Amino acid sequence: MMMNTPLILTQMIERVEKYFPKKEVVSRTDGGIHTLTYAQIAERTRRLASSFEKLGIQEGDRIGTLAWNHHRHLEAYFAIPCYGAVLHTINIRLSPEHVAYIINHAEDRLLLLDADLIPLIEAISPQLKSVEGYIIMTDQAELPKTSLSPVYHYETLVAQGNPKQALRQDLDENAPAGMCYTSATTGNPKGVIYSHRGIVLHSMALGLVDTGAVSERDVAMPVVPMFHANAWGLPFVCLWFGTKQVLPGPYFTPKILAELIQSEQVTISAGVPTIWLGLLQELETGNYDTSSLRALLCGGAAAPKSLIKTFEQKYSIPFLHAYGMTETSPLVVIAKPKSYQDDLSDEELLDLKAKQGIVVPMIDIKVVGQNGEVKQDGKEMGELLIRGPWIASEYYRNEKTEEAFKDGWLHTGDVVTIDEEGYVKIVDRTKDLIKSGGEWISSVDLENALMAHEAIFEAAVIAVPHEKWQERPLACVVLKEGYVGKVTPEDILEFLTPQFAKWWLPDEVMFVKDIPKTSVGKFLKRALREQLKDQYLK
Ligand code: ADP
Repeated sequence: MMMNTPLILTQMIERVEKYFPKKEVVSRTDGGIHTLTYAQIAERTRRLASSFEKLGIQEGDRIGTLAWNHHRHLEAYFAIPCYGAVLHTINIRLSPEHVAYIINHAEDRLLLLDADLIPLIEAISPQLKSVEGYIIMTDQAELPKTSLSPVYHYETLVAQGNPKQALRQDLDENAPAGMCYTSATTGNPKGVIYSHRGIVLHSMALGLVDTGAVSERDVAMPVVPMFHANAWGLPFVCLWFGTKQVLPGPYFTPKILAELIQSEQVTISAGVPTIWLGLLQELETGNYDTSSLRALLCGGAAAPKSLIKTFEQKYSIPFLHAYGMTETSPLVVIAKPKSYQDDLSDEELLDLKAKQGIVVPMIDIKVVGQNGEVKQDGKEMGELLIRGPWIASEYYRNEKTEEAFKDGWLHTGDVVTIDEEGYVKIVDRTKDLIKSGGEWISSVDLENALMAHEAIFEAAVIAVPHEKWQERPLACVVLKEGYVGKVTPEDILEFLTPQFAKWWLPDEVMFVKDIPKTSVGKFLKRALREQLKDQYLK
């Protein structure tokens, strides 16, 4: 038999202290750029953990964070779970009602928040039932004036804390370490609990050469927020492996990201497609050297093929497409060609990289259609089901649990195909599929094609009600600057015509100023549908 040592986050922080104390975390905050070593981060983590004791926090209590990506948030990522409490990362871009709902539902006892987010919490604080104190994270020596009470200064707590505070060695690996609520496109947000074991195994998986290959030699910049599925696990992985991290802080712009990539020699960065669309526009200025990048990890929504092509062929930046959900920690599938696929043509390789990829080790998937598991032919569609050690098995105290977690599988609500080689392609979210005359049209495929047009910056395709066909596709298109008034909707339709069956073509192409986005930067199709519904119901 083998030893049954627990897989807990305390091992990660102790490892970095011992073996990578000199490695750095570069962090952008309201006060500028900070560079701290992992030795400093670890000591500050211990100091912060000791202050929870003084504030009466017990094992299993939830502590909420409302914060951007920066070193203090990283310290909280470890201080909270390694103290035995639960790190509840709160999505700061949700509506105030949802933020209040989440804090009450999780019963957070403390909130750690960035100074610029104080007004958001002040507005809802009378509704907060469980919160006993607010810790403000800021570079300023003085706390801003606030009606929140009691308030503590993060840096004062750290300064007064115990640098040698013992972290918990005796935690059960199945104990909760973190929690995160899905951003709820319908109904109330649903809570997902991450166990220590799940996070450790997920971190291991991100380091595998055939997945993220994150290593000590990397410089990683998670652009995906630390309040969105733990920045896809990168802060944990990097600390464990001693990887230098660059945390881009509040209100970053594509320019700030491009500058950080160049100045810090970032090798891997992670974000949703809209982030990379923005970066691409910035790179077009020709002002940056991005040759340090070995991978742009992209997920959260389908990466358009044209985006992948431009990064890879024009800028020689390898693009790594992956798929996951808040419920899955998130890594599930990742698109890397196999060794014997190296001789595929450029176009075939692009097609492959535009798929979401093959399932990572330790995770199981199946694709289930109306008649059971679908054929692995890249054509038959079905719902993606997932199980594994870093996949949620339930929603936190939520009645939706039974629907989503039937028979030991997470039912994702994503419609996919799987090809002969095992590559999964997300066709659509069930609710975004366009059901036209009993057949399905993939909004994702149409968007992909549209965004390959030289004049188009962004495009979202939605279903609009139709008397005869039930639903028909409508394309909402944002033109690049310089093309406005120069291309017509007919030009766009003409461009699509050779690429699709006639009945797939949008009934209309509408030019819009921008496309509403979700709190994490995905197209918010529900809002578009709402905006346009009345127009089309006539
Ligand atoms: P939300 O539900 O608020 O969007 P998540 O971040 O958990 O929160 O979203 C997970 C969903 O995002 C998946 O169910 C899927 O529909 C979509 N998704 C994630 N990655 C990809 C991808 N690479 N391509 C297409 N869709 C994706």
